Amino acid sequence: MLGQVMHRSARLPSVLRAVGRLVLPQQCAGCGRPDHALCRRCAALLGEPRRCEELTLHLGTQDLLPAQPQRAPLPTWALGVYAGPVRHAVLAWKSGGRPDLARPLTEAMERAASVMTEIERPTATGPVLVVPAPSGAARRRAGRFVVGELADAFGKGVARVTGAPVAVVDPLRRRSGGDHLLGAAARSRDRAGAVRCRGRLPRGAVCMVIDDVVTTGATLAACAEALRVAGGSVVGAVVLAVTAPPGAGSSNCQP
Ligand SMILES: [Zn+2]
Repeated sequence: MLGQVMHRSARLPSVLRAVGRLVLPQQCAGCGRPDHALCRRCAALLGEPRRCEELTLHLGTQDLLPAQPQRAPLPTWALGVYAGPVRHAVLAWKSGGRPDLARPLTEAMERAASVMTEIERPTATGPVLVVPAPSGAARRRAGRFVVGELADAFGKGVARVTGAPVAVVDPLRRRSGGDHLLGAAARSRDRAGAVRCRGRLPRGAVCMVIDDVVTTGATLAACAEALRVAGGSVVGAVVLAVTAPPGAGSSNCQP
């Protein structure tokens, strides 16, 4: 009997949430308009993927880290600019408060697989490896590994666009603990060592890295480096949104 009571009590919050959704109109996480998880206008802010590596410090032709060896730019695509409604929506999804955003945001990422037609892939016999950027252990335990969901969606899109075999793999981990993004200064000091790859990859395996947001590009650069060290060939990265440079508008997210 006690077990039944406890069981009902445990279910109560989810029941209340369900009732709440019936009583309270759903609001767009981007702009607050009623009745949509993400309204058409806000969803359109995550549009065609556009190259954005030159908007970052570490992914373009001008790497600003004098201590690091110069590497080739990492072709990086973003679907939008991390500001306004896009920022609201991404934060609401990551916080766990709006699981209904998973569908529109993962569908946007699945569409982004169109970038594979722009990539001149090196010869490889194995599947394309779609790799999520690492999330902290606390976020994983809380079931909020949204980058993993984005990678799954992108992988689905890649299979559809290319017809090639695809594997979504999750070998990357942050070296330092905590569930917070590394500070910009720390990332700049130790970019290459910030991420490790658990195990080796098939030699030359074609890798695409997926993340939710790119700011300086330090995390994506560390992911790419870790995958290269593990034997992979990183051909690009895709994110939902790029942080706009100070004073820049959405029109700046261009090749
Ligand atoms: Zn909206």
